[in-house]
Amino acid sequence: MSNERTIIKTKVGIVGGGPAGLMLSHMLGQAGIENIVVEARDHQSISNTHRAGILEAQAVSMLVDSGVDGRVLSEGDVHSGIDLRFNGESHPLDFTDLVDATVTLYAQNEVFIDLAAARARDGGDVRYLCEVTELMDLETDTPKFRFTNAEDEAFEVHCDILIGADGSRSFCRRQIPDTNRQDFTVTYPFAWFGILTEAPKSAPELIYANSPHGFALISQRSETVQRMYFQCHPGENVHDWSEDRIWTELQARVDGPDNFTLKTGKIFDKTVLKFRSFVREPLSHGRLFLIGDAGHTVPPTGAKGLNLAFADVKVLFEALDSYYSTSNDALLHAYSDTALKRVWKAQNFSYWMTSMLHTPVDADPFMAKRALGELETVTSSRYGQQYLAESYTGWPHA
Ligand SMILES: Cc1cc2nc3c(=O)[nH]c(=O)nc-3n(C[C@H](O)[C@H](O)[C@H](O)COP(=O)(O)OP(=O)(O)OC[C@H]3O[C@@H](n4cnc5c(N)ncnc54)[C@H](O)[C@@H]3O)c2cc1C
Repeated sequence: MSNERTIIKTKVGIVGGGPAGLMLSHMLGQAGIENIVVEARDHQSISNTHRAGILEAQAVSMLVDSGVDGRVLSEGDVHSGIDLRFNGESHPLDFTDLVDATVTLYAQNEVFIDLAAARARDGGDVRYLCEVTELMDLETDTPKFRFTNAEDEAFEVHCDILIGADGSRSFCRRQIPDTNRQDFTVTYPFAWFGILTEAPKSAPELIYANSPHGFALISQRSETVQRMYFQCHPGENVHDWSEDRIWTELQARVDGPDNFTLKTGKIFDKTVLKFRSFVREPLSHGRLFLIGDAGHTVPPTGAKGLNLAFADVKVLFEALDSYYSTSNDALLHAYSDTALKRVWKAQNFSYWMTSMLHTPVDADPFMAKRALGELETVTSSRYGQQYLAESYTGWPHA
């Protein structure tokens, strides 16, 4: 690497080109606010990473109304409910009937592909394969960060506002002094064993199953590819699991007197997903603002991670738009408090769904029975169903 460091001056510097960083960059670009996104990974590997899949209607609107792409409407799969299965019986929840809302199944890698294409189409400055290794001057009017590209050329970005959109292991978050922050964390004694399989859908809606063998989620990707998870030990090794063993385990978790049978196929992806609940407060420090998983993570049971990232983007975009059009930074100062209200609602919902549907292996039998009592309470009451449906489909954006 040469000693020369190229200086880039811009208004908003964004670290991380996941859905949060790219969505914010796109909205700023639409509003004429100059910005740069610096992303450690390459386009191809992010496009091939399978993660979230459920979008709230408001997240869909953000993609469509802001002019990213309408593909989510033509290729996304609208779901008007889920199936809560316990004691071997199915309990369908109809979101349209309960709260007049739906969700859309559209994989996170497709969201990334659309956002990346929109930034390229609109001339956005997105640098892939560039890892940010240093943040400076966060408490001044010109925060800065440094990165090196794949050709070993060094850059320093000078901006007005620095955004940490760098995911759950956030480098940006770690640059905030200990004295100015508080972290809230819950770790869980279980994880999810996730598979992708070439199989048809097993049922019209997603199935969230509580069983004496543990939790299972029978999710979907398309007509021919399905996503499924079962609760496992966090230290589980995917290589110890043959296809037969996986299908036996998954089937045991949805077995019931109705003889419901999973549709099986070739498994082409296996992964163990450890999860935790985490919130950093506040979500800002000086001129650094955290969005998405950099500021908070939720267990995936409530399907809230990506949606929460988009909700942060909406709040922060409005604050930045107001700041650049009126020089008033009141909304920027309010960003953390405003965003955290929704974050804690989502944390509560994700924790609630997780504890109701999972039973730790060594749980007191009382707790397993209590969870069944809770599922019975929720499914036998319209108010209970509505609470779940409203939270799952998403509260109105701030
Ligand atoms: C298996 C799985 C299933 C999930 N299911 C759901 C679901 O159904 N619904 C839902 O809403 N959410 C779900 N989530 C959560 C969702 O994927 C995340 O909440 C979402 O990715 C958050 O987006 P983000 O942009 O904040 O972070 P990320 O997507 O993690 O993006 C952060 C980016 O920053 C980059 N980066 C990191 N450090 C640096 C650095 N130093 N310099 C430059 N770049 C850097 C990373 O490479 C990454 O691309 C799931 C997650 C997983 C893992």
